[in-house]
Amino acid sequence: MSSIESAETASPSAEIIGHYIGGREVQASANTLDVFNPASGEITKRLACADADVVEQAIFAANNAFPSWRNTPPQKRAQILFRFKILLEQSADAICQLITAEHGKVLDDARGELGRGIEVVEYACGISELLKGEHSKNAGPDIDSWSEFQPLGIVAGITPFNFPAMVPMWMFPMAIACGNTFILKPSERDPSAALLIARLFTEAGLPEGVFNVVNGDRSVVEMLLDDSRIQAVSFVGSTAIAESIYQRASNTGKRVQALGGAKNHAVIMPDADITNAVNALMGAAYGSCGERCMAISVAVCVGEETADQVVSQLERRVRALKIGPGTDTNNDMGPLISKDALVRINAYIEQGLEQGAELVVDGRGLQVKGHEQGYFIGGCLFDEVSEDMSIYSDEIFGPVLCVVRVKYLDQAMTLINNHEYGNGTCIFTRDGAAARYFSDHIQVGMVGINVALPVPVASHSFGGWKRSLFGDLSIYGPDSIRFYTRRKTMTQKWPFDGDKEDARFSFPSN
Ligand code: NAD
Repeated sequence: MSSIESAETASPSAEIIGHYIGGREVQASANTLDVFNPASGEITKRLACADADVVEQAIFAANNAFPSWRNTPPQKRAQILFRFKILLEQSADAICQLITAEHGKVLDDARGELGRGIEVVEYACGISELLKGEHSKNAGPDIDSWSEFQPLGIVAGITPFNFPAMVPMWMFPMAIACGNTFILKPSERDPSAALLIARLFTEAGLPEGVFNVVNGDRSVVEMLLDDSRIQAVSFVGSTAIAESIYQRASNTGKRVQALGGAKNHAVIMPDADITNAVNALMGAAYGSCGERCMAISVAVCVGEETADQVVSQLERRVRALKIGPGTDTNNDMGPLISKDALVRINAYIEQGLEQGAELVVDGRGLQVKGHEQGYFIGGCLFDEVSEDMSIYSDEIFGPVLCVVRVKYLDQAMTLINNHEYGNGTCIFTRDGAAARYFSDHIQVGMVGINVALPVPVASHSFGGWKRSLFGDLSIYGPDSIRFYTRRKTMTQKWPFDGDKEDARFSFPSN
């Protein structure tokens, strides 16, 4: 049996994962999907796939919970969020073990993702301040005007496999803090962390029905998209699906934000501290096995000498990567998510070779002792990559870094600006003017200057440009207040008793 084939044997007692609706677990639904441990290739659990009845239960619960949650004072909502944050911290080990068992990432990496999710909960704890609204006294003669931000109703969130805790937490803490109720459809490949998190939210005092989780695949998503009781959809996943979800949900009048794929370039200038840049590239390209939407997958080296130094240092470092199960925190990289991903990435490497790129480090065929059926691949490094190659144009979503050689910064920027994606990018340089020029003119939503993974903190919003985001508003941070609420503007006048006003036919103005 080759390293790509796996045993795929389910233990007869494999746990069935259900849904979380109305503050309790629901086990119904006959169809199941297999959940694998990517480090062993074994089926470890079976996921119940929600049918129309289960989806209806979730919508019904969220709908029933909305009127009272909408009227719960923001300060009270914040108190529940505070307790939730503490429970998340106390349960961090359990959550991270679930992430590693189903996603495969190294435990420390899982802790990092959970930490970034908890930061969004911390930001949501300030909801009283964030929802204060806007007020203008004497907007006109004796007239006051104010705007308030009212919750939408039921919001659905659909999330990808690569951050089973963090990406859902980019969405539901802010949506719920704003007074909405929420239905989450996690990735079918690593659904367990979301269910544990839902239980913890109930334990923190969240009323039943405010946060619900329905599991399954495309069919569940479509039921949510087509239901008129759901007011808004937050989606994170691949670009083709993001675009189709944006269109389908918009057609039914929903507010939608759909974050898609990426091809993130790092520019290395001749004056950069090359060793620091290479250190940063190693984590950004190979951390989490390259399965991050902000992963650096292209290193654009300005000047031949820069490229030679970067490639030679990278080669040594990529060969030395420690790869194995994510439960061993000495490892730098765990397995890929699935056998399909392994097959897809091997095919890309073959295409890169056929199209003329130089494969400096070939990670294919890696065997990890004791984990021969796991979905492991070593780090791969391509040099002499050009724009017309599929390894350059496509999001590979694996540990494959492509080096492109250019002569000038402007050439590097043209490459980036011409690419269909615009999620993240970064520049390594000691030249402030070059960095400023780069950040000003680059057509990308999140830019790092000597920072390889410029993932915004929770008080800023996260979102790419071009085909990395469909919709007008980014996720979490200040944009999430706008996304998860509807502005209503009041204009009022209280004439004194006896004041008489004439009819005026011209348009009111100051
Ligand atoms: P995916 O698009 O396959 O799946 C995402 C979600 O959509 C899952 O819940 C899945 O069940 C559902 N889904 C899949 N096919 C569907 C269909 N035809 N109709 C409706 N729903 C469908 O993505 P993935 O493989 O789980 O995640 C990796 C992708 O996510 C990468 O492209 C990565 O760049 C992207 N991503 C983007 C960001 C970002 O912020 N831009 C963050 C994380 C991941």
